[in-house]
Amino acid sequence: MLLHEPQIVIANPVADDQTVEKARLHEAMDTLKGDVDDMLSSQLVAGSDEHKHVLEAYRMFANSRGWMSRMEEGIRSGLAAEVAVEREQSATRARMARASDAYLRERLHDLDDLSNRLLRLLTGQGQRSAEDIPEGSIVVARNIGPGELLEYGKKIKGIVLEEGSVGSHATIVARAMAIPLVIHADKITREALNGDLLLVDGDQGIAHLRPEDSVASAFRDKIEMQAAAQEKYRSIRRKPATTLDGQTITLNMNAGLMVDLPSLESSGADGVGLFRTELQFLMRSTVPKRGELAALYDSIMNSARGKPIIFRTLDIGSDKVLPYMKREDEPNPAMGWRAIRLALDKSGVMRMQLQALIRAANGRPLKIMFPFVAQFEEFTDARTRVLHELDREQSLGHVIPQDVEIGAMLETPSLAFAPDQFFEMADFISIGGNDLKQFFFAADRENERVRRRYDTLNVSFLSFIEQISKRCDDLGTPVSFCGEDAGRPVEALCFAAMGLRSLSMRPASIGPVKHLLRRANLNEARAVIEMARAEGEQSVRAAVMKWIETL
Ligand code: PEP
Ligand code: MG
Repeated sequence: MLLHEPQIVIANPVADDQTVEKARLHEAMDTLKGDVDDMLSSQLVAGSDEHKHVLEAYRMFANSRGWMSRMEEGIRSGLAAEVAVEREQSATRARMARASDAYLRERLHDLDDLSNRLLRLLTGQGQRSAEDIPEGSIVVARNIGPGELLEYGKKIKGIVLEEGSVGSHATIVARAMAIPLVIHADKITREALNGDLLLVDGDQGIAHLRPEDSVASAFRDKIEMQAAAQEKYRSIRRKPATTLDGQTITLNMNAGLMVDLPSLESSGADGVGLFRTELQFLMRSTVPKRGELAALYDSIMNSARGKPIIFRTLDIGSDKVLPYMKREDEPNPAMGWRAIRLALDKSGVMRMQLQALIRAANGRPLKIMFPFVAQFEEFTDARTRVLHELDREQSLGHVIPQDVEIGAMLETPSLAFAPDQFFEMADFISIGGNDLKQFFFAADRENERVRRRYDTLNVSFLSFIEQISKRCDDLGTPVSFCGEDAGRPVEALCFAAMGLRSLSMRPASIGPVKHLLRRANLNEARAVIEMARAEGEQSVRAAVMKWIETL
């Protein structure tokens, strides 16, 4: 285990000569910019547009005049260069603590990361080059920047962060490099010492510092068991998810980055049931150009080799603010001006995205899905715009897709009760269980205190899923479930028992979900659920688990 950010000690906080301090700051800044440029042109970035965009956003900060002039101001007030950097860093950290917007927090973290580099350059302390790092180390840090992570590269076997977030640049890079990452490890930088033994379970998000022998050996057993399970999943990779009573469930995967696509083949997924397009937008400092997006969507379709992909249009809103969009302060962003609401009101970006999708398809079939539709009219409106863009593209001489399907995400309870005409018009529906569940139980999906209070296998929620599934069947609308719960084997089995025949999940979940489905009889599962429901249970989990043990 290795501490990423050793404490820097500043010996002399005041400076006599401002000119010297200013020159030191400029020199360090030039080196820093050079380092970032080197990273950008390095092997690590070659071939990966995503790494490149992450670093470009990072470079934008390094070149920010505001940042430089605030530090120069510190020097003018008599501070040594490193103290001026530190003072500005403290101000950034205070802004970071106050920022309620996740995207802004992430960008401020990039700035924090650059300040650390600058401090190391100015003091000559804590300089650790990637070459000095022992192979197979686990890095521990308060937080880490994407640049540093790329420098450590494949040499490291895990990362444990005190802060961090699911949508951060570092998380994206770690995922792309398949390095296990644990975030929110409380006090880890204070507790851990260089050289300590540290076990990292990226799947569970757990790290064990200086584990007891019993924990370490249980961990070893778990790794062995997982290896055996992986072997089992590999053996059924090309087999269908057919239950004992002959029901075949389509298992798709969720994706959001080009790097996710190879999992389509390795996981045995039938297609991509949800491609979250916003990640490409969130990672950049400027709005992507239509041509760039079209090229990206084209490579995604090429990598899928004919397997279907459902592209979800931008799900952006007050909680996921793009740096090039004016921020709207809203008291309750999750229920605010987001996703399709924003897209319909400010249609420029959506139109551009639709054009990019149509051009990328270049005659191939295209599936487009709108997020967060709450009423029929929003869907008809969005659909009309797709049809309009198709006409326009055709009149401009572009080849338009042979087959275009336009679907909606069912993420608000209201849509389940929309008129029949909605279900007849939608080419498909995908239940966004993450949002649907938070609105069904009125429990914030980001709030740990309330999130776990309501079980997905709660009878009310399952009955709701059953109703939606039945309504779609009656009206002939293909329906799928693409929230995180679809990737949990027991939940997936219960959804199938409630009538769903298509699920979309993280690629790593395909094997475990398929394995359970192939061992189960859906009629029996349904009987167990109905019995628990008739007995007035709050959740069917206990009954279903007990039954699964008998399989
Ligand atoms: C969902 O809400 O279930 C969903 C898949 O969308 P997201 O998690 O991106 O909001
Ligand atoms: Mg959602």
